[in-house]
Amino acid sequence: MGKTTKKILGTVFGLVVLLSAGVLVKVHLETRKMSSADTGKIVGGVYAVQDSYVNLFLIKAHDTYVAIDAGNDAGRIQGELRRLQIDPEKVAAIFLTHSDPDHIAACSLFSKAVIYLSRAEEQMVNGQTARFLFLKNKLNYPHKLLEDNQIVTISGMEIKGISTPGHTPGSMCFLVNGTYLFTGDSMGLKGGKVTQFNKIFNMDSVAQASSIGRLAGVPGVEYIFTSHYGYTRFNQTAFGNWKE
Ligand SMILES: [Zn+2]
Repeated sequence: MGKTTKKILGTVFGLVVLLSAGVLVKVHLETRKMSSADTGKIVGGVYAVQDSYVNLFLIKAHDTYVAIDAGNDAGRIQGELRRLQIDPEKVAAIFLTHSDPDHIAACSLFSKAVIYLSRAEEQMVNGQTARFLFLKNKLNYPHKLLEDNQIVTISGMEIKGISTPGHTPGSMCFLVNGTYLFTGDSMGLKGGKVTQFNKIFNMDSVAQASSIGRLAGVPGVEYIFTSHYGYTRFNQTAFGNWKE
C-alpha cells in the first residue's frame, strides 16, 4: 500500500470515527430529553409501564391484557408489573409499533403472548433492510404479520393497525376500541400538541410527516399515547398544523 493510499484511508477512518461519535453524543442527549409516562393506570383499563425513557402500554380486556410494545429491560418491567399486580403471563398479545430494540427486547417476559408486527416492518427483522449503516434489528420470536387497516379482536377488544411509515418503513399505530390511539415513535408530544418525532431517529422524516397527516384524519380518537413523550387527551388543537 502506497503512502498516499494509507494517508487517505487514515483520514477516512478518522472521519467515520468522528462522525459516529458525534451521532452517539447527539442520540444520548436527545434520549435524555424524552419524557415517558410514570407507571400507573391512566384511563379505561389502560396502564402505562415505564422502562426508563420508553413506555409500553397494557390494556385490560376481561381477564387478559393486550400490550402495545414490550419495552426494553425485562427485569425492570417485571418490577413495574409487580407494583401494578399484573401477571406478565396474562398478556395475551403484543402489538409492536416497530422493531427497534427498546420496543421489543422485553418480549421474552411475556411467554404466553402472540406477537404482531406490520408486514411492512418484516424487512427490518429479516436482514433485508438496515436500521442505521450496517446495524440491523432482530426479532427472535415467532410473530404474525399485520396489513394496513387490519383489525384483530382479543377478548372483545378491537385493535386496528394503521400504517404510518417514517420512523421505520413498517411503523404502525394502533387504534384500540376506536378511541385510544397508540402512536409508538410516529410522533412526539409537547404541551399536548403533536410534533414530529425527533428526526435524528427517523429513517424517513418526510414520510413520517405525511403519516402524521393521516393520523390527524382518524375520527373518534379520545386519547393519544406515545412511546417516549407521554400521552394526552385528544382535543381539537392537538394536531394543530398537521391538519389539512
Ligand atoms: Zn423508540
